[in-house]
Amino acid sequence: MDKYQTLKQIFENARSLVVFTGAGISVPSGIPDFRSANGIYNQKSKINIPPEEIISHSFYEAHPELFFEFYKEKMCYPDAKPNAAHKYFANLEKKGVNVTVVTQNIDGLHQAAGSSRVYELHGSVHRNYCEKCNRYFGLNYVLNHKGVPLCDKCGGIVKPDVVLYEESLDEGTISRSISAIMTCDVLVVIGTSLTVYPAAGFIRYFKGSYLILINKQPTSYDNSADMVFNEDVCEVVKKIK
Ligand code: ZN
Repeated sequence: MDKYQTLKQIFENARSLVVFTGAGISVPSGIPDFRSANGIYNQKSKINIPPEEIISHSFYEAHPELFFEFYKEKMCYPDAKPNAAHKYFANLEKKGVNVTVVTQNIDGLHQAAGSSRVYELHGSVHRNYCEKCNRYFGLNYVLNHKGVPLCDKCGGIVKPDVVLYEESLDEGTISRSISAIMTCDVLVVIGTSLTVYPAAGFIRYFKGSYLILINKQPTSYDNSADMVFNEDVCEVVKKIK
């Protein structure tokens, strides 16, 4: 049996499968990793501001116009559709496999594909709340609003429910994710080099039978995994459908 058939059997026979995903799974849907994006050139200081700085809480507070300029252009992809990999795990759930998705992505594509249990560690562009009255807004409201999006009821700034640098992750989401990883028998990590907090730490909780890594580039965890696929996840999924 080749390694793809073995992988297919591991997935289909999993008692409990956790799918941990990073930016790489959404690249085939046309969503680049924002960390690889160019920052914003600041006229005043004459310097190029890197993405990591723009997507920080203090930058958001100090320069909301620049923040939203970058955010809307580089982090929101309203037309992106789930790809074969998102769909594969949604289908696996439909077939009766107990699937939990833990994702670092904020694009909502796992839910769009039909996955029902998705823990979004870094939040979602699809949820936005007024900082003053907590009113909810969808993605289009933010994108259609010129400049800084303001609440149509009270005028407060509408903040995306996305975890910025310097902000802490949601405690409930963390504990549900860890508990899923601790109790699953198969953990597949897709499209992340496992260098971004908190991914690397989470993997240590895994006590199950199969740790599988699917990432185009090798990672420092390849040696501790049971199976490693250094290729595009959509290519892998094509071979196990
Ligand atoms: Zn409001």
